[in-house]
Amino acid sequence: MNDDPERPHPVRPHAVRPHAVRPRPAVASLPAYVPGARPADDRSHKLSSNENPYPPLEPVRQVIADAAGRVNRYPEMYADSLVAALGERFGVGAAGVVASTGSVAVLSHVLQAFCEPGDQVVTAWRSFEAYPILVRLQGAEHVQVPLAAGARHDLGAMADAVTDRTRAVLVCTPNNPTGPAVHHDELAAMIDAVPEHVLVVIDEAYTEFVTDPQAADGPALLAEHPNVMLLRTFSKAYGLAGLRVGYAVAHPEVAAAVRIASTPFGVNELAQTAAVASLAAEDALLERVRAVVAERQRVVAGLRVQGWDVPDAQGNFVWLATGDRTTDLATHAAARGLLVRPFAGDGVRISIGSPEANDAVLALAEEWAPEG
Ligand SMILES: *Cc1c(COP(=O)(O)O)cnc(C)c1O
Repeated sequence: MNDDPERPHPVRPHAVRPHAVRPRPAVASLPAYVPGARPADDRSHKLSSNENPYPPLEPVRQVIADAAGRVNRYPEMYADSLVAALGERFGVGAAGVVASTGSVAVLSHVLQAFCEPGDQVVTAWRSFEAYPILVRLQGAEHVQVPLAAGARHDLGAMADAVTDRTRAVLVCTPNNPTGPAVHHDELAAMIDAVPEHVLVVIDEAYTEFVTDPQAADGPALLAEHPNVMLLRTFSKAYGLAGLRVGYAVAHPEVAAAVRIASTPFGVNELAQTAAVASLAAEDALLERVRAVVAERQRVVAGLRVQGWDVPDAQGNFVWLATGDRTTDLATHAAARGLLVRPFAGDGVRISIGSPEANDAVLALAEEWAPEG
């Protein structure tokens, strides 16, 4: 009997019946993307997804509220207003920019546009955990080049890993989850070493947080090499993770292919309006970025004093190589209201949060510091 007027259709236990519908082998073999843990209550600190700890700026909130009145209409097909603003900023024109539902979606469109099953895509490893999923979903082979000392990309080894089946090399800088940024001269040398038909995608999701003076200048490399693409996002420094908007900057003909593969109307009206308003409010946003960077420097210095060997942290997160203790540490942290991102057997990535959250991280880390 279903007496609940709120639930006129009782849920029947159908979901586990045997069925004969089979996904593609590439899909069946893949793990699901693991999202950062969500807080159990509002006293816990969510440091598991590298989000911006600050809420949206008032003028950005305002345009989001105004845009709510227009959501009965489709947005612009290719986020034209945003793309025009970005095209001007990067000096490539609107034809050189493709926006979509977060830069992870843009990367999936890139792989769809350029990779056939059996092609190879080279990345460092460990790197962004979305890469193996997106590459293998496309039926391509993910060639993983181990990180070098200091948890840095080994760009020489990555160039050497390129074969006649390689269609793209993805460079995550700063590297999620370990932190270092690649250096300009080493990336320029890598680009020179790979064939000109291989796409070099520079994933700059955290570029606004970079302070390393030797870090690669993506726009300069893009200007010199038609096979270079930049991937950027409004999710991190601009604090719009919940609205899902990211973009690629590339040669116009490369961008055109990505646009063909992209989801129609992929950037919704609220996201587009908020992104354009965020570009206009950039000074205030970058001030917040500087505050996050100052906190990052404080946390890294504190961890090193405790005896942790922390890789150079150039994003809004730090990496602790906790090996076999990783899962225990994450469980212990969660019990204390600190949600971090464990990579079992390897390490934990901890986002920089409010000063209070960062103090709690330092207190926890002190207890788990490696024996010196
Ligand atoms: C967060 C992140 C992105 C962007 O994610 P979206 O929210 O989809 O824009 C891209 N690359 C890396 C390495 C990231 O950490």
